[in-house]
Amino acid sequence: MPFLRPRPRRPSQSRHESDAPPTFGNIPGVHDISELFGKGRPLFSFEFFLPKAPEDLDKFIADVKELKSLAPDYVSLTYGAGGSGRDRTVEAAGRIQNETGLTTACHLTCIAHTRAEITAVLARLEALGIRNLVALRGDAPKDHPVAPPGERDFGYASDLVAFVKKRGGFQMAVAGYPETHPEAKSPEDDLARFARKCGEGADWALTQLFFDNKDYFSFVARARAAGVTAPIVPGIMPVTAYSQLKRFQSMCGAKIPHDLEERMAKVQADAPAVLREGVEWGARQCRELLDGGAPGIHFYTLNRSHSTSEILARLRRR
Ligand code: FAD
Repeated sequence: MPFLRPRPRRPSQSRHESDAPPTFGNIPGVHDISELFGKGRPLFSFEFFLPKAPEDLDKFIADVKELKSLAPDYVSLTYGAGGSGRDRTVEAAGRIQNETGLTTACHLTCIAHTRAEITAVLARLEALGIRNLVALRGDAPKDHPVAPPGERDFGYASDLVAFVKKRGGFQMAVAGYPETHPEAKSPEDDLARFARKCGEGADWALTQLFFDNKDYFSFVARARAAGVTAPIVPGIMPVTAYSQLKRFQSMCGAKIPHDLEERMAKVQADAPAVLREGVEWGARQCRELLDGGAPGIHFYTLNRSHSTSEILARLRRR
């Protein structure tokens, strides 16, 4: 992974950047993420997923450790609800935080869990020092059929948020969908569900990836009108291959702007040029988002750091 100099420290600004080691509870260096917002600077976070093969975990953690030089405000680890993915995610989140010193938010999906299981997962996360979650409903795992919403312990993410809030001990982000969640009855219904989920006690929100900033700004405006006050951080995935565009479209319904499609189509056979175009697009998109008031950027890294670090370096250079 490329090495980039860490941000120079400025005297002052936030608890995070001051000389005194930040603490959350009694864990040195671990932040209460919601307290990092509103300090006059954008928050940058990196999302990773667990490598499939357990033997790749050590290398993965070493790679995340290298990214510390990019000074992300926190990192997050997606949750694999099926099979052994659950336990492995929880243990890996603990290892990332403890071995890299980076505040780590563990994603947690509830669709395939009972209340007792979620209680046990939360206790284990707490024992490992994890204090920040991304609370999600998730999708039914392939190997684990789930009951309909009214017949399972957690119908929707809002139920998980309410459950964790009542228990205490964690800060929580939730997911937002600028282009509307694919299963939603309508954009209006989805927005109302999002507002309810935030109202149950979410501390901040992370959006699904998108390529047209108008969708983000309109989502934020609609959310504010619906009473959502939590910071809403755009989720950005740098494009690294032409084939990804179609996949994003079918997997999460992301609209691909004509301009982006055209630029990528032109260079599709030239891998370094595709990377360059992806960085150009991503940097421009992020800059416009931050200029328009976005509180930070959540990078979907796909466990590849090159494009994210290039975009971040450009954002910090300006
Ligand atoms: P919800 O907020 O529960 O919404 C799901 C759908 O139900 C929406 O259509 C909503 O409109 C509707 N709805 C909500 N409440 C109600 C209600 N009371 N009655 C009727 N309808 C309702 N997946 C993983 O498996 N692991 C991960 O780690 C993971 N991380 C993610 C991180 C982010 C930032 C994002 C954006 C997505 C992530 N996902 C992850 C994918 C996510 O699990 C799916 O998008 C999933 O389909 C929805 O989860 P949710 O928490 O948004 O669901």
